[in-house]
Amino acid sequence: MSITVVGSVAFDTVETPAGRNDEGLGGAATFFSLAASNFAPVNLVGVVGEDFPDRHVALLESKGINLEGLERAPGRTFRWTGKYHENMNDRDTIETQLNVFEHFHPKLPESAKDAPFLFLGNIHPSLQLEVLEQAHPRFTGLDTMNLWINIALDDLKQVLKRVDVLIINDSEVALLTGETNLVKGAREIKKLGPRIVVVKKGEHGCLLFSESGIFSAPAYPLEEVVDPTGAGDTFAGGFIGHLAKSEKPDDAALRRAVVYGSVAASFTCEKFGPDRLSEITRADIDKRFAEFQRLASF
Ligand code: AMP
Repeated sequence: MSITVVGSVAFDTVETPAGRNDEGLGGAATFFSLAASNFAPVNLVGVVGEDFPDRHVALLESKGINLEGLERAPGRTFRWTGKYHENMNDRDTIETQLNVFEHFHPKLPESAKDAPFLFLGNIHPSLQLEVLEQAHPRFTGLDTMNLWINIALDDLKQVLKRVDVLIINDSEVALLTGETNLVKGAREIKKLGPRIVVVKKGEHGCLLFSESGIFSAPAYPLEEVVDPTGAGDTFAGGFIGHLAKSEKPDDAALRRAVVYGSVAASFTCEKFGPDRLSEITRADIDKRFAEFQRLASF
């Protein structure tokens, strides 16, 4: 079944202890689409400027990603600059240039409206609501960030009422609910709407709170992390991708989706931006999935 994702397509400048990458391809929708396209057809909805090069378009198209909904607007593409600390779970945003994103209102082509799976990437919750007005999905996933929890909480609460799963960082759980305990925090989030909550804990793995209980998955242990940018969006792409491919999103499918998400995210961390994610195939994902099963079985 097909998936629609709405989110940023960007130029990222990133500095990590492993080096620096200037104005590489980035954006939440980019990472999500590249990961999810290994599982199911993807429609990408977003905006880029006149400076967005054809080679990036060609890369996305080479993965079969439908770019009918990728608007090209006058002006410059969204830019984000981030710097990681020695502990790569910690990063600072140095600069965000909204550029064409400032006046963006998502317009879903027919193919994108009809997709059974929808992922609302990390954009202003009022834009996420505009997407929900246009689409009629069977299953909706949501990402958000501290910025929107701080400045657009009312809109975010409207969105939360209408989604099936929220994928969120551990630190954001506390910001959203006031609960530092993740079990209690996830329970509070469920009261706001989502029946499923996935809490990402960076290199410490993630927790799935479904209707049937809790599932804990480790992160794939990597010897060298080059750049974790986009790992969260990649996780979401693998997670929703697997659900879109499954017969029904029951508890077994949700557990496997968490592992597929973790596997996809581990590849993203191995090189700058989406460089590693772009070169892998479904076979690479399946091989690491099998290693993951051995890693966590006892
Ligand atoms: P992640 O590492 O999973 O949090 O995702 C990082 C990606 O999100 C980068 O590629 C950025 O371009 C993008 N990003 C960062 N800040 C924003 C924002 N305020 N709105 C939309 N996308 C953003």
